[in-house]
Amino acid sequence: MTTHFDFLVIGGGSGGIAGARRAAQYGARTALVEAQQLGGTCVNVGCVPKKIMWNAAHLADALAIADDYGFSLADTAFNWASLKDARDAFVSRLNGIYQRNLESSGVSLYTGWAQFESASRVRIGDTCLSADHILIATGGRPMALQIPGAEMAITSDGFFSLSQQPRRPLIIGAGYIATELAGVFNALGSEVTMALRKDILLRGFDTMLQETVMDEMQSAGINILSCVQMEAIVPQENNLLAVRRHDGEEIRGIDCIITAIGRDPASDGLGLDTAGIKPDDAGYLRTDEWQNTAVPGIYAVGDVTGRQALTPVAIAAARRLSDRLFGGQAQARLDYQNIPSVVFSHPPIGTVGLTEDEARETYGHDNVKIYQNRFTDLYYSVARHRLPTIVKLVVTGAQEKVVGCHVIGRGADEMIQGFAVAIKMGATKADLDNTVAIHPTAAEELVTLR
Ligand SMILES: Cc1cc2nc3c(=O)[nH]c(=O)nc-3n(C[C@H](O)[C@H](O)[C@H](O)COP(=O)(O)OP(=O)(O)OC[C@H]3O[C@@H](n4cnc5c(N)ncnc54)[C@H](O)[C@@H]3O)c2cc1C
Repeated sequence: MTTHFDFLVIGGGSGGIAGARRAAQYGARTALVEAQQLGGTCVNVGCVPKKIMWNAAHLADALAIADDYGFSLADTAFNWASLKDARDAFVSRLNGIYQRNLESSGVSLYTGWAQFESASRVRIGDTCLSADHILIATGGRPMALQIPGAEMAITSDGFFSLSQQPRRPLIIGAGYIATELAGVFNALGSEVTMALRKDILLRGFDTMLQETVMDEMQSAGINILSCVQMEAIVPQENNLLAVRRHDGEEIRGIDCIITAIGRDPASDGLGLDTAGIKPDDAGYLRTDEWQNTAVPGIYAVGDVTGRQALTPVAIAAARRLSDRLFGGQAQARLDYQNIPSVVFSHPPIGTVGLTEDEARETYGHDNVKIYQNRFTDLYYSVARHRLPTIVKLVVTGAQEKVVGCHVIGRGADEMIQGFAVAIKMGATKADLDNTVAIHPTAAEELVTLR
């Protein structure tokens, strides 16, 4: 027997849950299928547990300057296992909250692996569901390293299962996940090496951010090896590992290798061909601006679409889709311009809009002006070890419209959201100048740039 719904959502992560609940609130008969824990990547092996680890690292940074502030702290030893227990307990609580939220919204939850049987029918084990509208929100998973011995490495998923703190981890990768994990380990006292395929961290970010984060991570003691071509991972004595490079050199004495080399879309095993959907060569489900796939009645949101892979993006796209399909808002769709994001690095990064290079390419080299300031946050005034803050505005045209805002430094993570509102509304440099500063803060530097 097949049960019919108005809306069927495959994937109970950020996008799927948000879209399903919004549709149900409009009265649509909605089902959601999830194969694993509710909450998806963000809740279980992404943003949430990652931010808890970053908070621990942030505390460690504060403890490191506590004596400069007059504190005499006897024992500041860090216990990885006890934090992991507390973190796992919090994630379990969230799994339960998501389940209750779905129930209270009236969404029917099915647990298992969903596979298309046709463009309007999906099978989960012995259960068959059909729907007028089907949303694919299946997310992604860590990309596998393809070298001999790769099975001895773990991915970011494995990072969250570590019950003990590695003393000498090697992080392979240069993206934001690799950067964040390296910073966390380092702040918590591990001896960290990073291996980059090219020569810079955070490709795609503004050059000022790339260079500053790289300098600061190196100054903090992280050993960043660039242009590393890896040949194999090989075991060493005492449960240690080594990475053999193409040049014959070995990176030795590693007790944990974490690969963070990108993420693949989770589009296989869904029976997409049965539904008539063809992913692109990388496996992404490309959609139009309305989240429509090429097959009428089938939509996709979130990481599986290859757009900005961020939780709020998946949520916003899914909610707007439900607004459009069931809420009578024919024009509802997500505008993918000016999406702010944060890298929880050391120091953290907040960024929105175009990089300087993108702006010069878009508006012409001479039509772009940069306002930038580097300073030391007052927080470090009495500290022996100081981290810089850099704020940068990218503006264009006679009106000096702000098209990019990039901050690295203490508090950048909390600072950028408000500036993203202004930029989304079309703020000019004069608008920022006309805003009275809040003193003494680091954020005030963005409204006092000369
Ligand atoms: C280490 C890490 C840190 C991150 N940090 C941040 C951050 O700080 N901020 C931020 O905004 N984003 C962050 N992200 C990205 C964020 O987690 C993702 O962008 C977001 O989770 C994508 O949501 P989604 O709905 O597309 O997919 P997901 O949340 O991945 O959910 C997809 C769900 O679909 C299920 N599924 C897949 N196939 C099937 C099937 N056939 N049948 C049934 N169920 C299926 C999966 O089990 C999964 O639960 C991070 C990611 C990682 C890995």
